[in-house]
Amino acid sequence: MKSIMQNNRECYICHACTNLHLHHIYFGKNRRISDKNGFTCYLCYDHHEGTYGVHGMYGHELDLKLKQDCQQEFEKDKSRKEFVALIGRNYL
Ligand SMILES: [Zn+2]
Ligand SMILES: [Zn+2]
Repeated sequence: MKSIMQNNRECYICHACTNLHLHHIYFGKNRRISDKNGFTCYLCYDHHEGTYGVHGMYGHELDLKLKQDCQQEFEKDKSRKEFVALIGRNYL
């Protein structure tokens, strides 16, 4: 499904348009659920796998920010209960 986070194919953080990776916001065991519900966004290499990228050593804050932004977006037209039923926890 199309991303609920963005319409353009660009890094969600810095808007770079090259070297993009599709990131599943709730990765690991929720990767398929993320795919199905559009909980994805494009990230450039640095914001994806770089040291401060979501999967990087110092990326925890960015990871959390994306998870919160995505939940907020979801809750614009759905309930928190529905979110927790999908992802298993609340990030807000
Ligand atoms: Zn970027
Ligand atoms: Zn990723």
